[in-house]
Amino acid sequence: MEIYIDGKFYPKDQAKVSVFDHGLLYGDGIFEGTRAYNGRIFEFDAHIDRLYNSAKAIALEIPMTKEEMKAAHLETLRRNQLTDAYIRTVVTRGVGDLGLDPRKCERPTVIIIADRISLYPPEFYEKGLKIITVPTRRNLPETVNPMIKSLNYLNNILAKIEANLSGAAEAIMLNQEGYIAECTGDNIFLIKGKTLATPPASFGALKGITRGRVMALAAEIGLEVVEMALTRYDVYVADECFLTGTAAEVIPVVEVDGRKIGDGKPGVYSKQLKEAFHRYAMENGTPIYE
Ligand code: PMP
Repeated sequence: MEIYIDGKFYPKDQAKVSVFDHGLLYGDGIFEGTRAYNGRIFEFDAHIDRLYNSAKAIALEIPMTKEEMKAAHLETLRRNQLTDAYIRTVVTRGVGDLGLDPRKCERPTVIIIADRISLYPPEFYEKGLKIITVPTRRNLPETVNPMIKSLNYLNNILAKIEANLSGAAEAIMLNQEGYIAECTGDNIFLIKGKTLATPPASFGALKGITRGRVMALAAEIGLEVVEMALTRYDVYVADECFLTGTAAEVIPVVEVDGRKIGDGKPGVYSKQLKEAFHRYAMENGTPIYE
């Protein structure tokens, strides 16, 4: 495996960053998770745009143009001869001293790792997930805005630990007002009748790229798509529930806080959207080898 760091490629065991990198010392940085399907990078521009928006929001100037960044991604996939992959892009504030002042960091560190996608086990999709609501809240937009894909994932990790300790597959995180925000690494959707609902990003969710594509596909199959405030009650009485994310794609949820969702089996629309999404992803994207 060859890993991109600051313009050069290194074998996995030599791909290292300094212990003085502020990404490590302070979580000062941002990241992206992108996927390649069938020789194409899915929603490439949307991921690159979100990376640069995350950087802008934390006043971090990425030392490459978007075109150079895209070329580096393509080169990483080509060198690793991948057609189907998960790509992790990390940009940190760079190497500084032990103080937190970002002005001590001369140049951001840019890392691109492309690896084979490790899928959730197929039974997760067939049987659906059992998840719980956890006490740890999603961070406030006034602090590190959840729209920023920052290296500060500790509260999501705490939520994941709470789910793990209860034997649940995922955690629903609420915002400060107690409305549903999202899960630890996925957006959440409910279906009631012919309506597909998801919380607005301003309620404390990352504006997921899978979320956006699924909303468009749902409208095409005749569902009414709404972004609205959702409570735990809305989840319990929904006909269907599913999560979306680059790694998970569309994954059904069959139980929340001990309440069965619908008839306790993955719903018809959830399955239909999962298939429509996968089909779309296989057929659309930026070719890697041309
Ligand atoms: N929410 C959080 C907190 C995430 O980390 C992710 C994964 N990037 C998502 C939602 C899903 O976003 P996307 O569909 O863009 O992968």
